[in-house]
Amino acid sequence: MQKFQHYIGGAFSDGTAQFDSHDPATGAVWARMPEARADDVDAAVQAAKAALRAPDWANMTATARGKLLYRLADLVAENAQVLAELETRDTGKIIRETSAQIAYVTDYYRYYAGLADKIEGAHLPIDKPDMEVWLRREPVGVVAAVVPWNSQLFLSAVKIGPALAAGCTVVLKASEEGPAPMLEFARLFDQAGFPPGVLNVITGFGAECGRVLTSHPDVDHVAFTGGPDTARHIVRNSAENLASTSLELGGKSPFIVFEDADIESAVNAQVSGIFAATGQSCVAGSRLVIANSIKDAFLARLREKASEIVIGVPDDLATEVGPLCTQAQLDTAAELVAASVSAGASVIAGGQPLDREGHYFPPTIIDCTDAPDAPCLTREAFGPILSVIGFETEAQAVQIANDTAFGLASGVFTKDLTRAHRMIRSLQAGIVWVNTYRAVSPIAPFGGHGLSGHGREGGLQAALDYTRVKTVWLRTSDDPIPDPFVMR
Ligand code: NAD
Repeated sequence: MQKFQHYIGGAFSDGTAQFDSHDPATGAVWARMPEARADDVDAAVQAAKAALRAPDWANMTATARGKLLYRLADLVAENAQVLAELETRDTGKIIRETSAQIAYVTDYYRYYAGLADKIEGAHLPIDKPDMEVWLRREPVGVVAAVVPWNSQLFLSAVKIGPALAAGCTVVLKASEEGPAPMLEFARLFDQAGFPPGVLNVITGFGAECGRVLTSHPDVDHVAFTGGPDTARHIVRNSAENLASTSLELGGKSPFIVFEDADIESAVNAQVSGIFAATGQSCVAGSRLVIANSIKDAFLARLREKASEIVIGVPDDLATEVGPLCTQAQLDTAAELVAASVSAGASVIAGGQPLDREGHYFPPTIIDCTDAPDAPCLTREAFGPILSVIGFETEAQAVQIANDTAFGLASGVFTKDLTRAHRMIRSLQAGIVWVNTYRAVSPIAPFGGHGLSGHGREGGLQAALDYTRVKTVWLRTSDDPIPDPFVMR
């Protein structure tokens, strides 16, 4: 059985305890993982705190930090296959997607490598003739990064990349569900040549490892990706020392199709939006909001496409939909469908766990047009479950789309340019995709509002968010300071 280790202060260790990791395709135990308890978490934070002040990191030029990040990106690229296979093995995410995602992971590290020496301060045209005033951008400090199990290499790259570019140090808590790729990533990080303690990678359970980390008095910022309920714990934890937070949470994103849309393109994007990643994606386009005039034709084509999806084991390149990560996720999916049917919704594809080994749930489509209170319209499924609701007018489409406590992503399919612009303005979401869906880039910020969290990942803004501004006043006159009892 394979055994993994923590990475703390530049050294590998077993952790105070260990736990088993299960293969989602079979349910069988395949590896032993280290479990960080309070003492391990504290050691990781102390290592990050020491590294933040140590001259080899604190005095390193931004250009040199960038070079180390480039080296890290190269190591990730060189070891792409191992990382992808580990992510597939430990989380059940299909190999097609984990292999493709590694390219994004390296892109993000390269983007932030290049950005490191472009995080500029500013000189202010101050309204006092004898003063020079400027703003320095300094690292925010020790960052606690907490990630969920899905796409951990990617979701940690969007935190580690900008944080290290800005000169912070990081304690990354990998998810207890499938930590293998992150613990392997730590081995590559070690080879890249960063000073010890700049990044520490631990794993463990939310109740102890996550709680102790996010409430630690020496943590300055908590960067979290996960569900809204956990986010509430994180914010309460971070209140201990008033650490700042950035929260990337889930969604119930609308996918809106007007009657003039390119139907084939919209169907394909909808398949990608809800069935890719087995629906276990924060930006899943899980609510199809569709013009009544094309609803039947669109659903017929979508069902046809859904029926052609290859369901299989995650390490088979032919597989398009794999297992859900955990038994709990499988149970949640089944309960959500059952509760929605009880509320009057009708299942038009899938709907029941598959009768096979592993946590398999098929591509599922539920028509909720006559069931506006169906829970699948409001609750994130985090599985391949699409809820459908029809509309008559554009105003109705907007009202349905915005009828959610989440605000992460949205998709609009129309060939009408002026309508597209009206929709862009009206949709309450951090991302609007027009005639496309599920596109990402390191250059483009990503994030939401409401129950989808706050803060942005990706782009320049993310790096700035890992800095704090220091205002410097320098007096240029040698004359004595005038009246000390008057503010200057
Ligand atoms: P989760 O919220 O259960 O867990 C996420 C992480 O938080 C894990 O590492 C967990 O150990 C930790 N945690 C749990 N309790 C904690 C506590 N009390 N204190 C500190 N840490 C704690 O999420 P999950 O089920 O692993 O992942 C699915 C969720 O993540 C979905 O809601 C999904 O939409 C969201 N997600 C969001 C994005 C995004 O970028 N917006 C991306 C991927 C996933």
